[in-house]
Amino acid sequence: MTPARNAFVTLVTNPDYAMGATALARSIRRTETVADIVVLHTGGVSKDDLASLVTLDCRLVEVDHLPLSDAFNERHARKNLHGAAPFTKGRKPDFHTPLDNFCKLRLWQLTEYGKAVFIDADALVLKNIDKLFGYPEFSAAPNVYESLADFHRLNSGVFVAKPSAQTFARMLAALDRPGAFWRRTDQTFLEHFFPDWHGLPVFMNMLQYVWFNMPALWDWRSIAVLHYQYEKPWERDHPKADRLRPLIDLWHAFHEGRDIPDPASLPNPGEPA
Ligand code: UDP
Ligand code: MN
Repeated sequence: MTPARNAFVTLVTNPDYAMGATALARSIRRTETVADIVVLHTGGVSKDDLASLVTLDCRLVEVDHLPLSDAFNERHARKNLHGAAPFTKGRKPDFHTPLDNFCKLRLWQLTEYGKAVFIDADALVLKNIDKLFGYPEFSAAPNVYESLADFHRLNSGVFVAKPSAQTFARMLAALDRPGAFWRRTDQTFLEHFFPDWHGLPVFMNMLQYVWFNMPALWDWRSIAVLHYQYEKPWERDHPKADRLRPLIDLWHAFHEGRDIPDPASLPNPGEPA
């Protein structure tokens, strides 16, 4: 029997995240992986927006939003979620719709794959990470970007999972309980659903704020996945753009597909250029 294939999976529900996924897919291709790259996309994205992903040999899979109750959708609508659980550390772009995050769970329906590694569309893969396919469900890195206390929580921008119709059904049942409110959407839910989650090294999901909040932790040679949480590198002049300039420049090199530097050769915080 031939072993089941594996896949990197991302999610795109609007043209902005399609841009993100283009840079991500190009970065994954550059690692010479043998795994598939699957882009889950909703009907909110046009063929034109997805064209560059086809060129990068991604497999496009159209998905619907999850079958959730009106009350659930209302509680997790952007204005209600931002009101009940305000973001105090950074700012979410206007094109970010919290409810869309839950579509990530559709990954468990991709049962043609043995293992799947989900990666947010606002990330870049800087090194080959195929070994993650050998890691168990559910593996994720801690949500570290400010202090040691962050190690208590996971970040759902990168995770290892095993597609399974049974798991998907159990998740749906656990997700939409009367009154359930997941303040950080899929991330809070996954932490709850997999209380014994396995910890990946922080370098498997290095969050951009580490660059200025915890510079001692930054090491370009070690970073396998760079994740632009909160403000996105393609937003024009966002509030943290000056502080994140080298990271933003790197994202644009991947997005445009030219003059991509060797990330391992970039200066760490405080090092001369
Ligand atoms: N996403 C999407 N459309 C949305 C919101 C989220 O396609 O309106 C997908 C996309 O893959 C994105 C991920 O869900 O990278 C999680 O959202 P985001 O990365 O903006 O959250 P953050 O990393 O800032 O917490
Ligand atoms: Mn993200």
